[in-house]
Amino acid sequence: MEHIECLIIGSGPAGYTAAIYTCRADVKTVIYEGIQPGGQLTQTTEIENFPGYPKGINGPEMMDDLRQQAERFGAEMRMGEITAVDVSQRPFRVTTEYDGDLLADTIIVATGASARYLGLPSEDAFKGGGVSGCATCDGFFYKGKDVAVVGGGDTACEDATYLAKICNKVYLIVRRDELRASKAMQHRVLNTPNIEVLWKHQTKELFGEQQGFMKKLKGAVLYHSDTKVERTIIIDGFFVAIGHLPNTMIFKGILDMDADGYLVTKPKSTATNVEGIFACGDCQDRTYRQAIVAAGTGAMAGIEVERFLLRQ
Ligand code: NDP
Repeated sequence: MEHIECLIIGSGPAGYTAAIYTCRADVKTVIYEGIQPGGQLTQTTEIENFPGYPKGINGPEMMDDLRQQAERFGAEMRMGEITAVDVSQRPFRVTTEYDGDLLADTIIVATGASARYLGLPSEDAFKGGGVSGCATCDGFFYKGKDVAVVGGGDTACEDATYLAKICNKVYLIVRRDELRASKAMQHRVLNTPNIEVLWKHQTKELFGEQQGFMKKLKGAVLYHSDTKVERTIIIDGFFVAIGHLPNTMIFKGILDMDADGYLVTKPKSTATNVEGIFACGDCQDRTYRQAIVAAGTGAMAGIEVERFLLRQ
């Protein structure tokens, strides 16, 4: 069975940065890139707050740069996911989606987080027919149309601003009477004429019609958070931007996690409760969730793996 020194699960800024550090320390490193190589940032447009890019950079380009940098030092990229990890033995026995089992002396978990949805049955029914969790992926299909974005954070504001450039009108559905987003993002939203913020509104259900094999969204029934008074909006696209869930399911019962599934690491460290397994990036960070922080914790994990292997 193949035996590697360091397995990195996940390919966002955390995973790639961890690989740069392990590979430069001569640790044989394999990255399983998961279903979305490059992670969440491949769905972002402009990134303005990652140091070193004075003019900004788009997400996919930055991820490609990081990937190439990791490859330059010998990181091996592989397709697919890790489906199971057996920590009862060392080296750890890991099951991959396409390549069978392998043995790993150390594991860096950098699996990130995925978009959350509202959980309405009608939302599920219109996925792919008007409901989307990614404005930059799907916005193009709604050129000149009316759409809605749900959420009040930076993602929702960024999505609304992005869609406002493509679409005729964007409703921003915000459940409270204020936005959680940064002031800069708030200004952008509030100064974009074709964005209408629907303060204190929530979504009751979505409706539409069957078109051939597809369900096609026509609109949404909303209600006021306080008065519960209903209101209908006619839209073709409904973009959900209400935060993320950590991708840590396969570690349930294995690694310590909080009530929402974020992995718990030791203070000032990326070490988990299992010796030899480290966690970095958004799967263990519910507070900052920034690319630069993910890269920083990725560097920590890389260094800790090197030191751990030296101690063995
Ligand atoms: P956040 O957790 O920051 O915001 C989620 C938003 O969704 C909140 O406004 C929340 O409302 C709302 N929400 C949650 N659940 C529901 C629900 N069931 N119904 C209606 N609304 C709901 O997530 P983001 O994805 O926006 O941001 C995550 C992190 O990434 C943040 O730290 C953010 O700063 C960062 N980010 C930075 C960007 C940049 O700098 N360019 C771009 C995008 C994200 P409420 O406020 O009432 O809780």
